[in-house]
Amino acid sequence: MASVLLPKGTIRIIPITPVDEQLLASLPDPLESAFKLPAAVEEENHMDPSFAYDLSRTQYNSTLLISAFLDRWKGNEGKILGVTSVDLFVPVLTYVFGEAQLDGPIAVVSTYRLDETLYGLPPSPKLAAARLLKEAIHELGHTFGLIHCHEFECVMHSSTAVEEIDLKSAQFCVACEGRLRGKVEEMLPGVER
Ligand SMILES: [Zn+2]
Ligand SMILES: [Zn+2]
Repeated sequence: MASVLLPKGTIRIIPITPVDEQLLASLPDPLESAFKLPAAVEEENHMDPSFAYDLSRTQYNSTLLISAFLDRWKGNEGKILGVTSVDLFVPVLTYVFGEAQLDGPIAVVSTYRLDETLYGLPPSPKLAAARLLKEAIHELGHTFGLIHCHEFECVMHSSTAVEEIDLKSAQFCVACEGRLRGKVEEMLPGVER
């Protein structure tokens, strides 16, 4: 498996198989706009998550996935977003939409619980894509050191149910945006500070 160091100032989107390719392809452009950094899907570096499968829960341990990404890209200076259609959990919770390292390089998100059909409703790829984008921005926001925000419309507001994702926007509030800009500037190549 290739494990080249990631240049500063990039967001690498890594498929964790299986993943909905259409949803995956919807991410790079709006992520570039949100973070003002280049973002691209790296199909060739996809990850097989079977090692993180928990037989008794029939879910995948997101913390183990993050550890595997860290092992694969030790010392990288970019951000990595793993995207999957499998259901994720952390041991203390029933499920998670995603998990990220605060001020670290790795975030993972799952589309599993963003799908209307899981709730007995007609499929809505548009809604699933909007939810995925919010969760992707939210988890990547954590990797830039942002913590949960009390502003209801801020993308850094915490969501534990899918309805709560729908209530917030895909935007950072003024305070979170300000914190983010400082962190992003530190990541831009050629900028010494
Ligand atoms: Zn969060
Ligand atoms: Zn905020």
